[in-house]
Amino acid sequence: MTGTTKIVWRGLQVAFFAVGVLIVAMLLFNPPLGLYLLWDVLIPVAPLLLVLAPGLWRNVCPLGSFSLLPAQLGLSRGRTISQAWQQRLLLGAIVLLLVIVPLRHVVLDVYGVVTGIVLLVVAAAAIGLGFVFDWKSAWCSGLCPVYPVEMLYGSRPLVSVPNVQCRVCTGCVSPCRDSSRALVPPDAAKGGSKLLVYLFAGGFPGFVLGWYLVSPNTSAPLLEQIGMAFLLPMAGLLASALLFLGLYLAFPRRRRWLALLFAALAVAIYYWFKLPVMLGLEGDGTHALLNLRAVLPGWSVWALRVGAGALLFGLMLGRKPSAGWSGRVASATA
Ligand code: SF4
Repeated sequence: MTGTTKIVWRGLQVAFFAVGVLIVAMLLFNPPLGLYLLWDVLIPVAPLLLVLAPGLWRNVCPLGSFSLLPAQLGLSRGRTISQAWQQRLLLGAIVLLLVIVPLRHVVLDVYGVVTGIVLLVVAAAAIGLGFVFDWKSAWCSGLCPVYPVEMLYGSRPLVSVPNVQCRVCTGCVSPCRDSSRALVPPDAAKGGSKLLVYLFAGGFPGFVLGWYLVSPNTSAPLLEQIGMAFLLPMAGLLASALLFLGLYLAFPRRRRWLALLFAALAVAIYYWFKLPVMLGLEGDGTHALLNLRAVLPGWSVWALRVGAGALLFGLMLGRKPSAGWSGRVASATA
């Protein structure tokens, strides 16, 4: 990597870190703006970025940079995480994801200050783990709840970028999701965890669909709201996982392809619902990234949905894996 390239990447990391700080500050001090920036700007573009260039996100994720700070400053104890604990952290990340997302309906989409505090707690956990464990092993490739989604959506990246976080490879995780190509989430699991991770991959489309079918009722008692927020996503997860399990048993040679198919289905369902809102074609326009309601005809909603779905399926299933998320890094022990 040339000096100029390094400077550009460092600039991007600093810029994204500043965006992360800005969003947390807005959540705490101007909650409506903070909620808009987080849920209507950053999060809606993230799945597409994870499909196209997961390595780019891994290089600039503000929480990732924060968790690596102790190691960058030589303050991390750099403890190795055993294979057994890598499995537990992966399952922990999946559980966190499945708990946090439904809570959006009740808390995280509604109360900016609470969301800001949750992000601060998550940041403290990320940097705390960075002080103890080797490089990305505990957070970025461990307990981070975005990590399972990165693996789900990022199996066929269109763009592979240099790994600017890992200057030399310490072998902190195995397999390394940053430098191996064409992994699907179960490839990162072993033994009994493998089936569980397959079921997560199979259940995720139903989970996303169930999440969008929830109708939040803010006047209901809190416990009822929480129950309703979890009911449909979990029912969808179960139904989708059972369908996946049937196909998994029926087509044992196509298991990895099935994991990819269900991942493509999950991200296509996400944009089926989200894209019209992002473009102001559905909803009241307050969640739009770009309001095109006055420009596009009503039928364009369906054209966009079908077009986006076809594009995502083409990207994730219609191509051979050509590269990993990032280029390989020289081993520290070589
Ligand atoms: S390239 Fe090496 S140091 Fe970096 S995440 Fe992968 S295993 Fe860890």
